[in-house]
Amino acid sequence: MNLLELGWIFLTDPLNLSLSLGSILMALLVLWWSRNSGLSVAKRVFLIYAHIAFLIVPVALFAYASGCALPASDCTVKTALYAMPFILAGVITTAGVLGYFVMPRLYRRRMGARALRGPLARFVAQQADKHGLRAPSLHVIDSAVPQAFSFSSFKPAIFISAGMLDILSANEVKAVLLHELGHLAHRSSLLKFSATLAHAVSPVAKFASMHHALDREECEADRFATTIQGTHRHLESARRKVEGFLAFSE
Ligand SMILES: [Zn+2]
Repeated sequence: MNLLELGWIFLTDPLNLSLSLGSILMALLVLWWSRNSGLSVAKRVFLIYAHIAFLIVPVALFAYASGCALPASDCTVKTALYAMPFILAGVITTAGVLGYFVMPRLYRRRMGARALRGPLARFVAQQADKHGLRAPSLHVIDSAVPQAFSFSSFKPAIFISAGMLDILSANEVKAVLLHELGHLAHRSSLLKFSATLAHAVSPVAKFASMHHALDREECEADRFATTIQGTHRHLESARRKVEGFLAFSE
């Protein structure tokens, strides 16, 4: 049986057809939604992961259905039940690998990020070295909204917006960069990433407990920054300024 015939068999099954079309529709919907620049960075990243996951569903379904169409395979309800967790795991893993390693690169391009050199980059490199961390690259994103975030995949990277650099003093910027370095030290971007991915797979997946874990990660990152600076002052004033900006712009 060739691929075309397998495809025909797959698509003439109403369940396969409706699931695939529904999934593709959802993928397009979340992609369109993720382009809304009014959303927070976290929401946009989440929507992009969701997009990837929705796109993989029809492929996984087709692979499974085609497996059943092969003469040698025994496609009973039992094997279908056994196969489901593996298919799901496959979908999650593929979305995960794609998301975790491709996202930072995609993000750099989408957000029009450029590498930041000079004293701030040297500061980050020095602090990373001092704490036995791989020095992350530092990028400025072209956005007036004050925001900062980090990724710790193959190449750790910290992103800070032009808006953030505009409203903060030098010490406050350093506090923010140290907070992000704290995240890289605790690899919390992996946790954030997992939470995001879980949300993509199941919108109700232990929502509360994940938020709890993320709160703890924020505290750890704060502690990393305030211990190095020897004061809470800069981090707190940075947070006040950002909150002030967001309150004003809403
Ligand atoms: Zn944080």
